[in-house]
Amino acid sequence: MFRSIHFVLALSWLSVAASAQPPSRASDAPEPLALVNANLVNVRDGRITPNATIVLRAGRIETVGTGAAPSGVKVLDLKGKYVLPGLIDAHTHADNFAAFRRALESGVTTVRSAGVSNFVDVGFNTLVKNGTVPGPSVVTAGYHVRPQMAQEAFLGDPAYADLMTGVTTIEKMRRAVQLNLSHGVDWIKILATERAGTADTDPRKQVYSEEEIRAIVQEAASRNAPVEAHAHGDEGAMAAVKAGVRSIEHGTYLSDATLQEMKRRGTYLDPTYTTVIDLTEAGGDYDVPALRIRGEHMLPRLRDTVVRAHRLGVLIVTGTDTGYGPTSLTRVGQEATHFVEMGFTPLEAIQSATVRGAEMLRLEKAIGVVETGFEADLIAVEKNPLETITTIQDPVLVISNGRVGLDRLNFAR
Ligand SMILES: [Zn+2]
Repeated sequence: MFRSIHFVLALSWLSVAASAQPPSRASDAPEPLALVNANLVNVRDGRITPNATIVLRAGRIETVGTGAAPSGVKVLDLKGKYVLPGLIDAHTHADNFAAFRRALESGVTTVRSAGVSNFVDVGFNTLVKNGTVPGPSVVTAGYHVRPQMAQEAFLGDPAYADLMTGVTTIEKMRRAVQLNLSHGVDWIKILATERAGTADTDPRKQVYSEEEIRAIVQEAASRNAPVEAHAHGDEGAMAAVKAGVRSIEHGTYLSDATLQEMKRRGTYLDPTYTTVIDLTEAGGDYDVPALRIRGEHMLPRLRDTVVRAHRLGVLIVTGTDTGYGPTSLTRVGQEATHFVEMGFTPLEAIQSATVRGAEMLRLEKAIGVVETGFEADLIAVEKNPLETITTIQDPVLVISNGRVGLDRLNFAR
């Protein structure tokens, strides 16, 4: 009996492998875990439950309470450390295993892609879902839709070669969206103004009109995909907001009028402030004199935008805009710390990195809080983050999809 079942399973594995899908590893469910003696931070209201017990099973939070751990479950003694939901990085270009691991070890259990080549975001997320790697989970976007798309797109999909001469008509914009949707991406990323991180482009210059972006938004909606719009300059950002994008990325030069429109429509702002600091400093992802000069101009403008957006009540999320390369200095914990420097309460900054990000991703019923039934994505930090926000820059435990991604609880051993 056992052998025949085993044989059937082996056959089904082969058939999955033959269809070029990664082998399903659903049988390797994560080991059940009980976290005890935790100070559990409720990120919805800032209440802290001392001596909390959190039971994780099959990748979900099974129970949250204050009782003893159930028998037969591996116990992690938190010894009073503070437990929070896993952090959300709403803007990354991570595109390899080492990069995703750096994100995970910084406490990030969910990222939203802001454009990568070869649909590696889709591939990595499949490996997370089938249990090959613990995380972070990836909300995918594929190729950045812009007038000159990355050429790898056409090596992968030569049928779209007509887009190589430029994505400059509404018909081609719709096709660029379809190229991405055909690979199963969750979001569409567009360029609404030119880039800041290349010396020969002006980030204030508008790229696509409101009418063009509206066509992109409509095309994306055919598969229920929202749109994230790179926009520094105000005119391009306003066009994107009016066209119905769900988030503005960066937003350096936003006017009050554009922020008001975002507030009215519920458009999210993902300022990626820390990466603009990186422009102004040696090392990091950017180390180019012309970009340093630009960054020194942009940084106070972006700071002013974030302060005004926060005062107006615009929905603000944390994104890094890093690829988590080996020289990257940009992390979600730093972004949240900068939000506090710009007038957020620590709770508001943590919400930007958790529940607010989850809402933007339309995953508010799955991630962003430590509550029964949610995905087992959580971190532990040394201090009370509502008093010392910088503590979230250095998590001592990271659990993603129920799997331990980082465990530094017990150095004494
Ligand atoms: Zn970016």
